[in-house]
Amino acid sequence: MCTSYYIKYTCQCKEMEFVQCEERQGTNVRCTPVTKRHRKDAQNFCESHLVYSNTPRTYITEPKPQDAEQ
Ligand SMILES: [Zn+2]
Ligand SMILES: [Zn+2]
Repeated sequence: MCTSYYIKYTCQCKEMEFVQCEERQGTNVRCTPVTKRHRKDAQNFCESHLVYSNTPRTYITEPKPQDAEQ
């Protein structure tokens, strides 16, 4: 069974890594359904949520207190 591994970033984005199963390697065939597996929790934002160091504005998502009003 082909497996889609996901990495979860602190910005809540997920990045997928698709791993084809051995018997289908070298073909363009994949299994259905694809198994989804959690690979790891990244300790940082994903690439698209990170800003360059010369960007004047940075944004940081602060963790919301549990009792914050919606
Ligand atoms: Zn497969
Ligand atoms: Zn992100």
